Amino acid sequence: MVQISEVKGNNRQNRTAVHTHIKGLGLRYDGTADKQAGGFVGQITAREACGVVVDLIKVQKMAGRGVLLAGGPGTGKTALALAISQELGTKIPFCPIVGSEIYSAEVKKTEVLMENFRRSIGLKVRETKEVYEGEVTELTPEEAENPLGGYGKTISTLLIGLKSAKGQKKLRLDPSIYEAIQKERVTVGDVIYIEANTGACKRVGRSDAYATEFDLEAEEYVPIPKGEVHKKKEIVQDVTLHDLDVANSRPQGGQDIMSMMGQMLKPKMTEITDKLRADINKVVSKYIDQGVAELVPGVLFIDEAHMLDIECFTYLNRALETPIAPIVVLASNRGMCTIRGTDDVVAAHGIPPDFLARLLIVPTTPYEADEIKRIVRIRSTTESVAITDNALDKLAEHGVRISLRYSLQLLTPASILAKVNGRTQIDVQDVGECETLFFDARRSAGLLGGDGGKGYIS
Ligand code: ATP
Repeated sequence: MVQISEVKGNNRQNRTAVHTHIKGLGLRYDGTADKQAGGFVGQITAREACGVVVDLIKVQKMAGRGVLLAGGPGTGKTALALAISQELGTKIPFCPIVGSEIYSAEVKKTEVLMENFRRSIGLKVRETKEVYEGEVTELTPEEAENPLGGYGKTISTLLIGLKSAKGQKKLRLDPSIYEAIQKERVTVGDVIYIEANTGACKRVGRSDAYATEFDLEAEEYVPIPKGEVHKKKEIVQDVTLHDLDVANSRPQGGQDIMSMMGQMLKPKMTEITDKLRADINKVVSKYIDQGVAELVPGVLFIDEAHMLDIECFTYLNRALETPIAPIVVLASNRGMCTIRGTDDVVAAHGIPPDFLARLLIVPTTPYEADEIKRIVRIRSTTESVAITDNALDKLAEHGVRISLRYSLQLLTPASILAKVNGRTQIDVQDVGECETLFFDARRSAGLLGGDGGKGYIS
């Protein structure tokens, strides 16, 4: 049986934190791009090209093909790939990796690729559950002192109020249900569902409205009517194939903190095997046929694609052909270079020509000073960092002279320095101080002295 309910999504949010201002490609109805829209500034042609890619994906004309974003560092390649996934839908998986990530001493390259392939394929699973809906409320001091049917001492602070046809009810909790609630770490004001048959508890949100409506005084205590259905609820879960692999490779049973600690101290074998993946694919196909699940192909973004070697390209070539494949978007800032893993075979972007022929190539171009200034301004607003016009000009100047990345990276430290210096917004002095503290790559490289090539900093 494939475990779905235990699965927790893992969408690597930390990797996309610098792109939180990107909300889509910012295109008009006719597919043309505004100079500034959707969090995007400039890069008009590339955005419009990506818009066409989105249309091709929607009409299912991208099967077996991919996209290559080619352009210098910091020209928005990752931002464009993320925007493509946003244009495809709000819950489309986006899995960004860097080509060099696939090299590790412990795991095979193709295994890393396969794992990320499966992270980029989503599944929308519909489950109908019989649940009790309730809001967690606080006990009055009298109730806390009064043991409730023998369970009162353990239930010292929590009580579940159910919304039923008769109005609000307070429930005497079965100890096993109380345990489930504790596991979910619910607090007062949370809305929870308790599954009718299993007693499993799930936190589904908060409801201040319930809290004010709730009238504790008038109600009597009732035991949970076991087996009786309070409400049928369709629960939609968004998971990725990789989430399913992980959940089903775990030793079964007991996912509480103590057993997880136990596993950390004495790890059990939890390998995701090809057989497990094949089994999961089978069950997933069955669910899709039954209409219980829907496949949501996401975007696998591989930055620094020239770091992949010939073996990886062969694997990708084959994987793109499979019926369950994500949209593969590659990026490279290299021109002609050697294909890794070959004896000096030189090719455009270090990508084998037969694979390159499968890719739609979208070039990205360097930014003008005004565009960089706009991007820095958008980021400062997104990060809630106040900045003077002069400081913004100075950062934009760095963006042109050094790189957009460098100027964006200085924003947060500069805001901390401004605070330390007693200012409410970043000023030119803070940017200047930041520059002396944090070097850009070129200045840092300048530190390397003539040491005969040993690479020591003199
Ligand atoms: P690299 O080749 O180094 O990986 P990249 O081309 O992928 O770089 P991004 O990471 O997309 O560049 O861009 C750097 C930062 O600038 C990110 O925070 C990104 O969101 C932002 N950015 C880049 N281009 C734009 C743009 N046109 N509009 C708004 N923000 C942008």
